[in-house]
Amino acid sequence: MQDIIVIGAGIAGVPAAYELTRWLGSTARITVVSDREYFHFVPSNPALAVGWRVESDIALPIKPHLEGRGIDFVHGSVTAIDADCSRIVVDGARELSYDSIVIACGAVPRWREIPGLAKLHSVLDLEQALATRKAYERFASRSGPIVIGAAPGASILGSVYEYAFLVDADLRRRGIRRRVPISIITPEPYSGHLGIGGSALRESLTHALAAHDIQWIGNAETIGAAEDAIQVARHTDGGRAKKESIPYVFGVYWPRFGGIPALTNSALPTDAHGLLKVDQYLRSEQYENVFAAGICIAPSQASPTPVEVGLPRTVDAIQEEVRIAAHNLVASLRGQPLRSVAIEHAQRVMGTGQDQAAYMSALRVPVGDITGLKQGRWVYEAKKEFENRFLNMVMFGFEHGSPVGALIRTIRSTAATGSGVIRHHGRQLVLELDQSIYAEVVAMATVLSQSSSSFASGLLTAAIQEAKTCLTETERTEVQRRIEETLITALQKEEEERLQFEDGAS
Ligand SMILES: Cc1cc2nc3c(=O)[nH]c(=O)nc-3n(C[C@H](O)[C@H](O)[C@H](O)COP(=O)(O)OP(=O)(O)OC[C@H]3O[C@@H](n4cnc5c(N)ncnc54)[C@H](O)[C@@H]3O)c2cc1C
Repeated sequence: MQDIIVIGAGIAGVPAAYELTRWLGSTARITVVSDREYFHFVPSNPALAVGWRVESDIALPIKPHLEGRGIDFVHGSVTAIDADCSRIVVDGARELSYDSIVIACGAVPRWREIPGLAKLHSVLDLEQALATRKAYERFASRSGPIVIGAAPGASILGSVYEYAFLVDADLRRRGIRRRVPISIITPEPYSGHLGIGGSALRESLTHALAAHDIQWIGNAETIGAAEDAIQVARHTDGGRAKKESIPYVFGVYWPRFGGIPALTNSALPTDAHGLLKVDQYLRSEQYENVFAAGICIAPSQASPTPVEVGLPRTVDAIQEEVRIAAHNLVASLRGQPLRSVAIEHAQRVMGTGQDQAAYMSALRVPVGDITGLKQGRWVYEAKKEFENRFLNMVMFGFEHGSPVGALIRTIRSTAATGSGVIRHHGRQLVLELDQSIYAEVVAMATVLSQSSSSFASGLLTAAIQEAKTCLTETERTEVQRRIEETLITALQKEEEERLQFEDGAS
Protein backbone atom coordinates (compact mmCIF):
# COMPACT_ATOMS: atom_id res chain seq x y z
CA MET A 1 0.00 0.00 0.00
CA GLN A 2 1.26 3.47 -0.93
CA ASP A 3 1.63 6.07 1.82
CA ILE A 4 0.69 9.51 0.59
CA ILE A 5 0.88 12.65 2.72
CA VAL A 6 -0.84 15.93 1.93
CA ILE A 7 0.50 18.92 3.88
CA GLY A 8 -2.25 21.49 4.48
CA ALA A 9 -6.03 21.32 4.80
CA GLY A 10 -6.80 24.47 2.84
CA ILE A 11 -8.10 25.45 -0.59
CA ALA A 12 -5.54 23.15 -2.28
CA GLY A 13 -4.97 20.45 0.37
CA VAL A 14 -8.52 19.23 0.99
CA PRO A 15 -9.50 18.87 -2.69
CA ALA A 16 -6.12 17.20 -3.33
CA ALA A 17 -6.83 14.58 -0.66
CA TYR A 18 -10.34 13.98 -2.08
CA GLU A 19 -9.02 13.71 -5.63
CA LEU A 20 -6.32 11.20 -4.59
CA THR A 21 -8.89 9.12 -2.71
CA ARG A 22 -11.09 9.11 -5.80
CA TRP A 23 -8.22 7.86 -7.95
CA LEU A 24 -6.58 5.44 -5.55
CA GLY A 25 -9.37 4.18 -3.28
CA SER A 26 -8.12 1.61 -0.79
CA THR A 27 -4.81 1.06 -2.63
CA ALA A 28 -3.26 3.99 -0.74
CA ARG A 29 -3.21 5.35 2.79
CA ILE A 30 -3.75 9.09 2.48
CA THR A 31 -2.92 11.32 5.43
CA VAL A 32 -3.59 15.05 5.65
CA VAL A 33 -1.35 16.94 8.09
CA SER A 34 -2.46 20.43 9.02
CA ASP A 35 -1.53 22.89 11.73
CA ARG A 36 -5.19 23.90 11.96
CA GLU A 37 -8.10 21.63 12.82
CA TYR A 38 -10.47 23.40 10.49
CA PHE A 39 -10.92 24.04 6.79
CA HIS A 40 -11.46 27.69 6.12
CA PHE A 41 -12.59 29.56 3.00
CA VAL A 42 -9.89 32.25 2.80
CA PRO A 43 -11.58 34.50 0.18
CA SER A 44 -14.33 35.37 2.69
CA ASN A 45 -11.84 36.87 5.17
CA PRO A 46 -12.49 40.48 4.05
CA ALA A 47 -16.22 40.06 4.80
CA LEU A 48 -15.39 38.43 8.14
CA ALA A 49 -13.15 41.38 9.01
CA VAL A 50 -16.02 43.87 8.65
CA GLY A 51 -18.43 41.62 10.53
CA TRP A 52 -20.56 40.69 7.52
CA ARG A 53 -19.71 36.99 7.91
CA VAL A 54 -19.11 35.03 11.11
CA GLU A 55 -16.53 32.36 11.74
CA SER A 56 -18.99 29.46 11.49
CA ASP A 57 -20.08 30.66 8.00
CA ILE A 58 -16.64 30.18 6.52
CA ALA A 59 -14.83 27.53 8.59
CA LEU A 60 -15.61 23.97 9.62
CA PRO A 61 -13.81 21.20 11.52
CA ILE A 62 -12.09 19.13 8.85
CA LYS A 63 -11.33 15.86 10.65
CA PRO A 64 -14.83 14.31 10.34
CA HIS A 65 -15.02 15.11 6.63
CA LEU A 66 -11.61 13.58 5.93
CA GLU A 67 -12.12 10.54 8.13
CA GLY A 68 -15.57 10.01 6.63
CA ARG A 69 -13.78 9.43 3.34
CA GLY A 70 -11.15 7.12 4.81
CA ILE A 71 -8.47 9.84 4.90
CA ASP A 72 -6.30 10.03 8.04
CA PHE A 73 -5.89 13.40 9.72
CA VAL A 74 -2.92 14.51 11.80
CA HIS A 75 -3.27 17.82 13.59
CA GLY A 76 0.15 19.41 13.89
CA SER A 77 2.60 21.75 12.25
CA VAL A 78 5.08 20.30 9.77
CA THR A 79 8.39 21.58 11.07
CA ALA A 80 10.75 19.76 8.69
CA ILE A 81 10.62 18.04 5.30
CA ASP A 82 13.41 15.54 4.64
CA ALA A 83 12.97 14.96 0.92
CA ASP A 84 16.05 12.70 0.66
CA CYS A 85 14.58 10.24 3.18
CA SER A 86 10.92 10.85 2.17
CA ARG A 87 9.75 11.81 5.62
CA ILE A 88 8.38 14.81 7.45
CA VAL A 89 8.57 15.93 11.06
CA VAL A 90 5.42 17.14 12.82
CA ASP A 91 5.66 19.54 15.77
CA GLY A 92 9.39 18.95 15.96
CA ALA A 93 8.94 15.42 17.28
CA ARG A 94 6.75 13.01 15.35
CA GLU A 95 8.17 11.51 12.13
CA LEU A 96 5.94 10.38 9.26
CA SER A 97 7.27 8.57 6.17
CA TYR A 98 5.75 8.79 2.72
CA ASP A 99 6.04 7.25 -0.71
CA SER A 100 4.70 10.43 -2.31
CA ILE A 101 3.75 13.82 -0.92
CA VAL A 102 1.58 16.75 -2.02
CA ILE A 103 2.73 20.03 -0.52
CA ALA A 104 -0.25 22.37 -0.17
CA CYS A 105 0.80 24.32 2.91
CA GLY A 106 0.02 27.79 1.59
CA ALA A 107 2.48 30.57 2.34
CA VAL A 108 3.49 32.86 5.17
CA PRO A 109 3.39 36.66 5.15
CA ARG A 110 6.82 38.29 5.07
CA TRP A 111 6.06 41.15 7.42
CA ARG A 112 9.63 41.71 8.48
CA GLU A 113 10.78 42.75 5.01
CA ILE A 114 9.42 46.23 5.76
CA PRO A 115 10.14 47.97 9.09
CA GLY A 116 7.05 48.46 11.23
CA LEU A 117 4.65 46.67 8.86
CA ALA A 118 4.04 43.78 11.27
CA LYS A 119 2.05 46.03 13.59
CA LEU A 120 -0.61 46.65 10.95
CA HIS A 121 -3.71 44.50 10.67
CA SER A 122 -4.37 41.90 8.00
CA VAL A 123 -7.04 39.54 6.70
CA LEU A 124 -4.79 36.78 5.40
CA ASP A 125 -5.90 34.06 7.78
CA LEU A 126 -8.87 33.43 10.03
CA GLU A 127 -7.24 34.52 13.29
CA GLN A 128 -5.90 37.72 11.74
CA ALA A 129 -9.25 38.53 10.14
CA LEU A 130 -11.02 38.04 13.50
CA ALA A 131 -8.47 40.24 15.27
CA THR A 132 -8.84 42.87 12.53
CA ARG A 133 -12.60 42.81 13.00
CA LYS A 134 -12.25 43.56 16.74
CA ALA A 135 -9.80 46.39 16.04
CA TYR A 136 -12.14 47.73 13.31
CA GLU A 137 -15.05 47.82 15.78
CA ARG A 138 -12.91 49.84 18.21
CA PHE A 139 -11.78 52.10 15.36
CA ALA A 140 -15.36 52.70 14.18
CA SER A 141 -16.19 54.33 17.51
CA ARG A 142 -13.32 56.83 17.09
CA SER A 143 -12.86 57.09 13.26
CA GLY A 144 -9.99 58.77 11.32
CA PRO A 145 -8.17 57.85 8.10
CA ILE A 146 -7.92 54.21 6.94
CA VAL A 147 -5.14 52.87 4.75
CA ILE A 148 -5.56 49.60 2.94
CA GLY A 149 -2.26 48.69 1.38
CA ALA A 150 -0.18 46.14 -0.45
CA ALA A 151 3.58 45.81 -0.14
CA PRO A 152 5.85 45.35 -3.15
CA GLY A 153 5.51 41.78 -4.45
CA ALA A 154 2.09 41.24 -2.79
CA SER A 155 0.00 39.02 -4.99
CA ILE A 156 -3.73 38.92 -4.21
CA LEU A 157 -4.60 42.49 -5.01
CA GLY A 158 -8.21 41.83 -6.07
CA SER A 159 -8.96 41.31 -2.39
CA VAL A 160 -7.40 44.70 -1.51
CA TYR A 161 -10.05 46.43 -3.64
CA GLU A 162 -12.76 44.12 -2.37
CA TYR A 163 -11.92 44.91 1.25
CA ALA A 164 -11.82 48.67 0.51
CA PHE A 165 -15.31 48.54 -1.05
CA LEU A 166 -16.63 46.46 1.85
CA VAL A 167 -15.23 48.92 4.40
CA ASP A 168 -16.73 51.80 2.39
CA ALA A 169 -20.12 50.05 2.37
CA ASP A 170 -19.96 49.17 6.05
CA LEU A 171 -19.00 52.69 7.13
CA ARG A 172 -21.85 54.12 5.05
CA ARG A 173 -24.19 51.71 6.77
CA ARG A 174 -22.94 52.97 10.13
CA GLY A 175 -23.39 56.55 8.95
CA ILE A 176 -19.75 57.54 9.60
CA ARG A 177 -18.20 57.31 6.13
CA ARG A 178 -17.74 61.11 5.88
CA ARG A 179 -15.45 61.03 8.91
CA VAL A 180 -13.25 58.27 7.47
CA PRO A 181 -11.05 58.99 4.44
CA ILE A 182 -10.05 55.69 2.77
CA SER A 183 -6.78 55.28 0.80
CA ILE A 184 -5.49 52.30 -1.12
CA ILE A 185 -1.70 52.07 -1.33
CA THR A 186 -0.60 49.69 -4.07
CA PRO A 187 2.49 48.77 -6.08
CA GLU A 188 0.33 48.56 -9.23
CA PRO A 189 1.06 51.08 -12.00
CA TYR A 190 -2.70 51.59 -12.52
CA SER A 191 -5.84 50.43 -10.74
CA GLY A 192 -6.96 46.96 -11.80
CA HIS A 193 -3.50 45.82 -12.95
CA LEU A 194 -3.65 43.11 -10.25
CA GLY A 195 -0.33 41.64 -11.32
CA ILE A 196 -1.67 40.45 -14.66
CA GLY A 197 -1.66 43.67 -16.65
CA GLY A 198 -4.22 44.30 -19.36
CA SER A 199 -6.49 47.29 -19.23
CA ALA A 200 -9.94 45.67 -19.08
CA LEU A 201 -10.58 46.86 -15.52
CA ARG A 202 -8.67 50.11 -15.53
CA GLU A 203 -11.41 52.53 -16.47
CA SER A 204 -14.28 50.89 -14.61
CA LEU A 205 -12.29 50.49 -11.42
CA THR A 206 -10.96 54.06 -11.58
CA HIS A 207 -14.55 55.30 -11.86
CA ALA A 208 -15.77 53.04 -9.07
CA LEU A 209 -12.99 54.24 -6.75
CA ALA A 210 -13.84 57.88 -7.52
CA ALA A 211 -17.57 57.27 -7.10
CA HIS A 212 -16.93 55.72 -3.70
CA ASP A 213 -14.47 58.46 -2.73
CA ILE A 214 -11.56 56.06 -2.24
CA GLN A 215 -8.13 57.61 -2.80
CA TRP A 216 -5.82 55.46 -4.93
CA ILE A 217 -2.05 55.74 -4.46
CA GLY A 218 -0.28 53.69 -7.13
CA ASN A 219 3.32 52.85 -8.12
CA ALA A 220 3.87 52.93 -4.38
CA GLU A 221 6.72 51.12 -2.74
CA THR A 222 5.87 50.82 0.94
CA ILE A 223 9.13 51.37 2.80
CA GLY A 224 8.06 51.63 6.42
CA ALA A 225 5.16 51.98 8.84
CA ALA A 226 5.15 54.22 11.90
CA GLU A 227 2.38 54.39 14.55
CA ASP A 228 0.46 57.03 12.61
CA ALA A 229 1.78 57.08 9.05
CA ILE A 230 2.88 54.79 6.22
CA GLN A 231 6.05 55.81 4.36
CA VAL A 232 6.02 55.17 0.65
CA ALA A 233 8.30 55.91 -2.28
CA ARG A 234 6.18 56.70 -5.35
CA HIS A 235 7.94 55.60 -8.52
CA THR A 236 7.72 56.87 -12.06
CA ASP A 237 8.47 55.04 -15.29
CA GLY A 238 11.65 57.12 -15.54
CA GLY A 239 13.02 55.40 -12.45
CA ARG A 240 12.67 58.35 -10.06
CA ALA A 241 10.96 58.00 -6.67
CA LYS A 242 9.35 60.59 -4.40
CA LYS A 243 8.87 59.91 -0.70
CA GLU A 244 5.48 60.49 0.89
CA SER A 245 3.94 59.91 4.27
CA ILE A 246 0.32 58.74 4.36
CA PRO A 247 -1.39 59.28 7.74
CA TYR A 248 -3.63 56.59 9.20
CA VAL A 249 -5.46 55.56 12.31
CA PHE A 250 -6.48 52.12 11.09
CA GLY A 251 -4.24 50.21 8.67
CA VAL A 252 -4.71 46.83 6.96
CA TYR A 253 -1.93 45.42 4.77
CA TRP A 254 -1.16 42.66 2.25
CA PRO A 255 2.54 41.75 2.51
CA ARG A 256 4.56 39.61 0.12
CA PHE A 257 4.20 35.85 0.59
CA GLY A 258 7.07 33.45 1.25
CA GLY A 259 7.54 29.75 1.97
CA ILE A 260 6.84 28.17 5.38
CA PRO A 261 10.01 27.50 7.43
CA ALA A 262 9.83 23.72 6.83
CA LEU A 263 10.14 24.44 3.09
CA THR A 264 12.85 27.06 3.25
CA ASN A 265 14.94 24.87 5.55
CA SER A 266 14.56 21.77 3.36
CA ALA A 267 16.67 20.51 0.45
CA LEU A 268 13.75 21.14 -1.91
CA PRO A 269 14.56 23.81 -4.53
CA THR A 270 12.81 27.08 -3.68
CA ASP A 271 12.91 30.64 -5.04
CA ALA A 272 14.38 33.70 -3.30
CA HIS A 273 11.27 33.89 -1.07
CA GLY A 274 11.26 30.24 -0.08
CA LEU A 275 8.40 29.19 -2.39
CA LEU A 276 8.67 25.75 -3.95
CA LYS A 277 10.03 25.46 -7.48
CA VAL A 278 8.10 22.93 -9.55
CA ASP A 279 8.28 21.70 -13.14
CA GLN A 280 5.43 21.70 -15.68
CA TYR A 281 4.00 18.58 -14.00
CA LEU A 282 3.71 20.37 -10.63
CA ARG A 283 6.49 18.15 -9.31
CA SER A 284 9.53 19.36 -7.40
CA GLU A 285 12.36 20.24 -9.77
CA GLN A 286 14.53 17.72 -7.96
CA TYR A 287 12.36 15.11 -6.21
CA GLU A 288 10.06 12.96 -8.35
CA ASN A 289 7.78 11.93 -5.48
CA VAL A 290 7.10 15.52 -4.36
CA PHE A 291 4.10 17.32 -5.92
CA ALA A 292 2.54 20.67 -5.02
CA ALA A 293 -0.52 22.86 -5.48
CA GLY A 294 -1.56 26.32 -4.32
CA ILE A 295 0.33 29.39 -3.21
CA CYS A 296 3.29 27.43 -1.82
CA ILE A 297 4.47 27.19 -5.46
CA ALA A 298 6.92 29.82 -6.73
CA PRO A 299 5.03 31.97 -9.27
CA SER A 300 6.32 32.49 -12.77
CA GLN A 301 7.87 35.83 -13.67
CA ALA A 302 5.39 38.72 -13.74
CA SER A 303 5.72 41.42 -16.41
CA PRO A 304 7.99 44.22 -15.14
CA THR A 305 6.44 47.23 -13.40
CA PRO A 306 8.16 50.20 -11.67
CA VAL A 307 7.31 48.55 -8.31
CA GLU A 308 7.07 44.75 -8.19
CA VAL A 309 3.50 43.36 -8.31
CA GLY A 310 3.01 39.66 -7.56
CA LEU A 311 1.08 37.30 -9.83
CA PRO A 312 -2.31 36.28 -8.42
CA ARG A 313 -3.37 32.67 -7.83
CA THR A 314 -7.12 32.20 -7.75
CA VAL A 315 -9.14 29.45 -6.11
CA ASP A 316 -10.31 28.04 -9.43
CA ALA A 317 -6.81 28.08 -10.90
CA ILE A 318 -5.66 26.20 -7.79
CA GLN A 319 -8.43 23.60 -8.30
CA GLU A 320 -7.06 22.99 -11.78
CA GLU A 321 -3.57 22.58 -10.30
CA VAL A 322 -4.95 20.16 -7.73
CA ARG A 323 -6.48 17.98 -10.45
CA ILE A 324 -3.26 17.98 -12.47
CA ALA A 325 -0.98 17.35 -9.45
CA ALA A 326 -3.19 14.48 -8.22
CA HIS A 327 -3.41 13.00 -11.70
CA ASN A 328 0.37 13.19 -12.13
CA LEU A 329 1.06 11.65 -8.74
CA VAL A 330 -1.20 8.70 -9.60
CA ALA A 331 0.18 8.48 -13.17
CA SER A 332 3.74 8.41 -11.85
CA LEU A 333 2.81 5.47 -9.58
CA ARG A 334 1.24 3.65 -12.53
CA GLY A 335 3.94 4.52 -15.07
CA GLN A 336 1.46 6.50 -17.17
CA PRO A 337 2.06 9.81 -19.03
CA LEU A 338 1.88 13.02 -16.97
CA ARG A 339 -0.25 16.09 -17.73
CA SER A 340 1.53 19.39 -18.27
CA VAL A 341 0.15 22.43 -16.46
CA ALA A 342 1.90 24.74 -18.96
CA ILE A 343 0.22 23.15 -22.01
CA GLU A 344 -3.22 23.08 -20.37
CA HIS A 345 -2.90 26.68 -19.23
CA ALA A 346 -1.90 27.77 -22.74
CA GLN A 347 -4.91 25.93 -24.19
CA ARG A 348 -7.25 27.61 -21.69
CA VAL A 349 -5.86 31.06 -22.42
CA MET A 350 -6.17 30.49 -26.18
CA GLY A 351 -9.74 29.34 -25.58
CA THR A 352 -10.65 32.48 -23.66
CA GLY A 353 -8.67 34.84 -25.82
CA GLN A 354 -6.36 36.44 -23.28
CA ASP A 355 -4.84 36.07 -19.85
CA GLN A 356 -7.04 38.72 -18.35
CA ALA A 357 -10.21 36.93 -19.39
CA ALA A 358 -8.88 33.62 -18.07
CA TYR A 359 -8.04 35.25 -14.77
CA MET A 360 -11.30 37.08 -14.41
CA SER A 361 -13.41 34.04 -15.18
CA ALA A 362 -11.40 32.17 -12.58
CA LEU A 363 -11.73 34.92 -10.00
CA ARG A 364 -15.46 34.25 -9.67
CA VAL A 365 -15.99 37.63 -8.12
CA PRO A 366 -15.30 39.69 -11.19
CA VAL A 367 -13.78 42.93 -10.03
CA GLY A 368 -14.87 44.40 -13.38
CA ASP A 369 -18.42 44.35 -12.14
CA ILE A 370 -17.50 46.38 -9.08
CA THR A 371 -18.66 49.44 -11.03
CA GLY A 372 -22.18 48.07 -10.89
CA LEU A 373 -22.18 47.33 -7.22
CA LYS A 374 -24.24 49.25 -4.76
CA GLN A 375 -22.49 49.63 -1.42
CA GLY A 376 -20.44 46.44 -1.83
CA ARG A 377 -23.59 44.33 -1.79
CA TRP A 378 -23.09 42.71 -5.19
CA VAL A 379 -19.56 41.51 -4.42
CA TYR A 380 -20.68 40.30 -1.04
CA GLU A 381 -23.58 38.26 -2.42
CA ALA A 382 -21.45 36.78 -5.20
CA LYS A 383 -18.80 35.83 -2.68
CA LYS A 384 -21.35 34.14 -0.42
CA GLU A 385 -22.43 31.96 -3.33
CA PHE A 386 -18.80 31.11 -4.12
CA GLU A 387 -18.17 30.32 -0.44
CA ASN A 388 -21.27 28.11 -0.26
CA ARG A 389 -20.27 26.09 -3.28
CA PHE A 390 -16.76 25.49 -1.97
CA LEU A 391 -17.86 24.55 1.55
CA ASN A 392 -20.39 22.14 0.06
CA MET A 393 -17.63 20.58 -1.94
CA VAL A 394 -15.61 20.11 1.26
CA MET A 395 -18.59 18.69 3.16
CA PHE A 396 -20.26 16.61 0.49
CA GLY A 397 -17.45 16.12 -2.00
CA PHE A 398 -19.53 17.22 -4.97
CA GLU A 399 -17.45 18.51 -7.79
CA HIS A 400 -19.54 21.64 -8.32
CA GLY A 401 -21.13 21.94 -4.91
CA SER A 402 -24.69 20.85 -4.24
CA PRO A 403 -27.72 23.15 -4.37
CA VAL A 404 -29.43 20.89 -1.80
CA GLY A 405 -26.41 21.25 0.49
CA ALA A 406 -26.43 25.00 -0.15
CA LEU A 407 -30.09 25.14 0.86
CA ILE A 408 -29.41 23.37 4.16
CA ARG A 409 -26.44 25.64 4.87
CA THR A 410 -28.52 28.73 4.12
CA ILE A 411 -31.28 27.55 6.42
CA ARG A 412 -28.76 26.75 9.16
CA SER A 413 -26.95 30.04 8.93
CA THR A 414 -30.14 32.10 8.79
CA ALA A 415 -32.19 30.09 11.30
CA ALA A 416 -30.61 31.99 14.18
CA THR A 417 -31.60 35.37 12.75
CA GLY A 418 -35.02 34.19 11.64
CA SER A 419 -34.53 35.50 8.10
CA GLY A 420 -33.88 33.72 4.82
CA VAL A 421 -37.15 31.80 4.55
CA ILE A 422 -37.47 30.12 1.17
CA ARG A 423 -40.43 31.61 -0.56
CA HIS A 424 -42.33 29.93 -3.28
CA HIS A 425 -43.93 32.28 -5.75
CA GLY A 426 -46.62 31.42 -8.25
CA ARG A 427 -49.21 28.73 -8.25
CA GLN A 428 -49.28 26.01 -5.68
CA LEU A 429 -48.17 22.59 -6.78
CA VAL A 430 -49.94 19.84 -4.86
CA LEU A 431 -47.70 16.84 -4.43
CA GLU A 432 -48.69 13.42 -3.23
CA LEU A 433 -45.83 12.17 -1.11
CA ASP A 434 -45.09 8.68 -0.02
CA GLN A 435 -45.86 8.35 3.74
CA SER A 436 -42.22 7.80 4.79
CA ILE A 437 -40.89 10.70 2.68
CA TYR A 438 -43.62 12.92 4.11
CA ALA A 439 -42.52 11.99 7.64
CA GLU A 440 -38.88 12.72 6.77
CA VAL A 441 -39.68 16.13 5.28
CA VAL A 442 -41.74 17.11 8.33
CA ALA A 443 -39.03 15.84 10.72
CA MET A 444 -36.19 17.68 8.93
CA ALA A 445 -38.22 20.87 8.64
CA THR A 446 -38.94 20.75 12.39
CA VAL A 447 -35.26 20.19 13.25
CA LEU A 448 -34.28 23.12 11.00
CA SER A 449 -37.08 25.32 12.42
CA GLN A 450 -38.81 25.65 9.05
CA SER A 451 -42.41 25.25 8.06
CA SER A 452 -42.73 21.90 6.27
CA SER A 453 -44.28 23.47 3.15
CA SER A 454 -41.56 26.10 2.66
CA PHE A 455 -38.86 23.51 3.41
CA ALA A 456 -40.37 21.03 0.91
CA SER A 457 -40.68 23.77 -1.69
CA GLY A 458 -37.05 24.87 -1.20
CA LEU A 459 -35.87 21.28 -1.25
CA LEU A 460 -37.70 20.59 -4.48
CA THR A 461 -36.30 23.75 -6.11
CA ALA A 462 -32.75 22.80 -5.07
CA ALA A 463 -33.22 19.19 -6.15
CA ILE A 464 -34.41 20.33 -9.59
CA GLN A 465 -31.33 22.54 -9.98
CA GLU A 466 -29.13 19.63 -9.01
CA ALA A 467 -31.01 17.24 -11.28
CA LYS A 468 -30.51 19.59 -14.23
CA THR A 469 -26.74 19.20 -13.89
CA CYS A 470 -27.21 15.50 -14.72
CA LEU A 471 -28.95 16.22 -18.03
CA THR A 472 -27.29 16.46 -21.41
CA GLU A 473 -27.17 19.80 -23.22
CA THR A 474 -30.01 18.67 -25.56
CA GLU A 475 -32.16 17.53 -22.65
CA ARG A 476 -31.58 20.84 -20.84
CA THR A 477 -32.65 22.80 -23.96
CA GLU A 478 -35.77 20.66 -24.26
CA VAL A 479 -36.57 21.19 -20.55
CA GLN A 480 -36.18 24.94 -21.05
CA ARG A 481 -38.55 24.84 -24.04
CA ARG A 482 -41.17 22.94 -22.04
CA ILE A 483 -40.82 25.32 -19.06
CA GLU A 484 -41.58 28.24 -21.37
CA GLU A 485 -44.51 26.35 -22.89
CA THR A 486 -45.97 25.64 -19.43
CA LEU A 487 -45.50 29.25 -18.29
CA ILE A 488 -47.09 30.66 -21.45
CA THR A 489 -50.07 28.32 -21.06
CA ALA A 490 -50.44 29.35 -17.41
CA LEU A 491 -50.20 33.05 -18.29
CA GLN A 492 -52.73 32.69 -21.09
CA LYS A 493 -55.10 30.95 -18.71
CA GLU A 494 -54.67 33.75 -16.13
CA GLU A 495 -55.28 36.33 -18.82
CA GLU A 496 -58.47 34.56 -19.91
CA GLU A 497 -59.69 34.34 -16.30
CA ARG A 498 -58.99 38.06 -15.81
CA LEU A 499 -60.81 38.95 -19.02
CA GLN A 500 -63.77 36.83 -18.03
CA PHE A 501 -63.86 38.54 -14.66
CA GLU A 502 -63.61 42.02 -16.19
CA ASP A 503 -66.21 41.08 -18.79
CA GLY A 504 -68.46 39.82 -16.04
CA ALA A 505 -67.94 42.99 -13.98
CA SER A 506 -68.70 45.40 -16.76
C1 LIG B 1 -7.88 37.98 1.84
C2 LIG B 1 -7.87 37.08 0.64
C3 LIG B 1 -8.91 37.13 -0.27
C4 LIG B 1 -8.90 36.31 -1.39
N1 LIG B 1 -9.94 36.38 -2.28
C5 LIG B 1 -9.95 35.56 -3.35
C6 LIG B 1 -11.04 35.57 -4.28
O1 LIG B 1 -11.98 36.35 -4.16
N2 LIG B 1 -11.03 34.71 -5.31
C7 LIG B 1 -10.00 33.84 -5.49
O2 LIG B 1 -10.04 33.05 -6.43
N3 LIG B 1 -8.94 33.80 -4.63
C8 LIG B 1 -8.89 34.63 -3.57
N4 LIG B 1 -7.84 34.59 -2.69
C9 LIG B 1 -6.72 33.67 -2.95
C10 LIG B 1 -6.95 32.28 -2.37
O3 LIG B 1 -7.70 32.34 -1.19
C11 LIG B 1 -5.62 31.62 -2.07
O4 LIG B 1 -4.92 31.60 -3.27
C12 LIG B 1 -5.83 30.23 -1.53
O5 LIG B 1 -6.37 30.28 -0.22
C13 LIG B 1 -4.51 29.48 -1.46
O6 LIG B 1 -4.80 28.14 -1.15
P1 LIG B 1 -3.69 27.21 -0.49
O7 LIG B 1 -4.32 25.89 -0.23
O8 LIG B 1 -2.45 27.26 -1.29
O9 LIG B 1 -3.38 27.91 0.90
P2 LIG B 1 -4.36 28.01 2.16
O10 LIG B 1 -5.77 28.07 1.74
O11 LIG B 1 -3.79 29.12 2.97
O12 LIG B 1 -4.13 26.63 2.91
C14 LIG B 1 -2.89 26.29 3.51
C15 LIG B 1 -3.12 25.16 4.50
O13 LIG B 1 -1.86 24.69 5.00
C16 LIG B 1 -1.88 24.68 6.43
N5 LIG B 1 -0.50 24.89 6.92
C17 LIG B 1 0.23 26.01 6.86
N6 LIG B 1 1.44 25.80 7.42
C18 LIG B 1 1.46 24.50 7.81
C19 LIG B 1 2.44 23.69 8.45
N7 LIG B 1 3.64 24.14 8.79
N8 LIG B 1 2.10 22.40 8.74
C20 LIG B 1 0.89 21.90 8.41
N9 LIG B 1 -0.06 22.65 7.79
C21 LIG B 1 0.23 23.92 7.49
C22 LIG B 1 -2.85 25.80 6.78
O14 LIG B 1 -3.36 25.67 8.08
C23 LIG B 1 -3.92 25.58 5.72
O15 LIG B 1 -4.76 24.52 6.10
C24 LIG B 1 -7.82 35.41 -1.58
C25 LIG B 1 -6.79 35.35 -0.64
C26 LIG B 1 -6.79 36.18 0.44
C27 LIG B 1 -5.66 36.11 1.44
